[in-house]
Amino acid sequence: MAGMFDLTGKVALVTGANTGIGQGIALALAEAGADIAAAGRSPATETVDKARALGRTAENFAADLSSVSAVQPLVDAVLVEFGRIDILVNNAGIIRRADAVDFTEADWDAVMDTNLKSLFFLCQAVGRHMIARGSGKIINIASMLTFQGGIRVPSYTASKSGVGGLTKLLANEWAAKGVQVNAIAPGYIATNNTAALQADETRNRQIVERIPAGRWGDPADIGGAAVFLASSASDYVQGHILAVDGGWLAR
Ligand code: NAP
Repeated sequence: MAGMFDLTGKVALVTGANTGIGQGIALALAEAGADIAAAGRSPATETVDKARALGRTAENFAADLSSVSAVQPLVDAVLVEFGRIDILVNNAGIIRRADAVDFTEADWDAVMDTNLKSLFFLCQAVGRHMIARGSGKIINIASMLTFQGGIRVPSYTASKSGVGGLTKLLANEWAAKGVQVNAIAPGYIATNNTAALQADETRNRQIVERIPAGRWGDPADIGGAAVFLASSASDYVQGHILAVDGGWLAR
């Protein structure tokens, strides 16, 4: 059974792997046997050290994904170092909070560029390589706001709704070419991204009360879903958005 989830010898490119959900996913993939290319604007020193301690090859790749110009150089650098990419995890993302009536163009563009535009062009650059090899697994990080509207986060909701649509579009185009494209929609996970919500006593209480599991998620809670979608255990899963939310959407 463990063989189905075994990632030994696979190369995983994970964006935003220095902290939070990206770190949780990178370490889970490394536990399952994958070598790790950790990409981001801050070096993922701790993640790389921990992956190496598990006996994996792991390297840092500097990439500021607020601009699409970072995408091809990143993919080229990973291919030079590792020779191939079997798994792509598009995790890097940001959020900006303001009332819709006050929301600025700068906050719109910053979120859409990182969360959606760079994500699509990373899928494209890595997808070309995977299609040429006839195999690959792409995992995009979506959100509860792929399904719901949210509040005071218009560009984030638009970007994550877009991630859901793109995941399905790419699955439609690439499934027959051996490339799987799926997404994970995390619920409320305790990371830098949600620090403002955790610090707001009222919002924090309202959120925890609504989660059937009765607690915030931990980045490690996302790891199992990532291993599943990266492994042969999920070979017939395509264009799916897997909620890992402590039951939030069920309520
Ligand atoms: P986080 O701790 O703030 O991590 C975000 C990651 O993205 C960091 O590694 C960050 O790097 C990286 N990043 C941001 N802008 C970047 C850029 N321009 N170039 C390269 N890397 C960049 O938040 P998180 O919660 O783990 O978020 C990870 C993903 O999960 C995001 O896509 C987020 O939208 C999604 N998500 C989170 C939750 C949640 O409840 N936490 C729920 C649903 C979805 P730096 O450390 O350098 O900033």
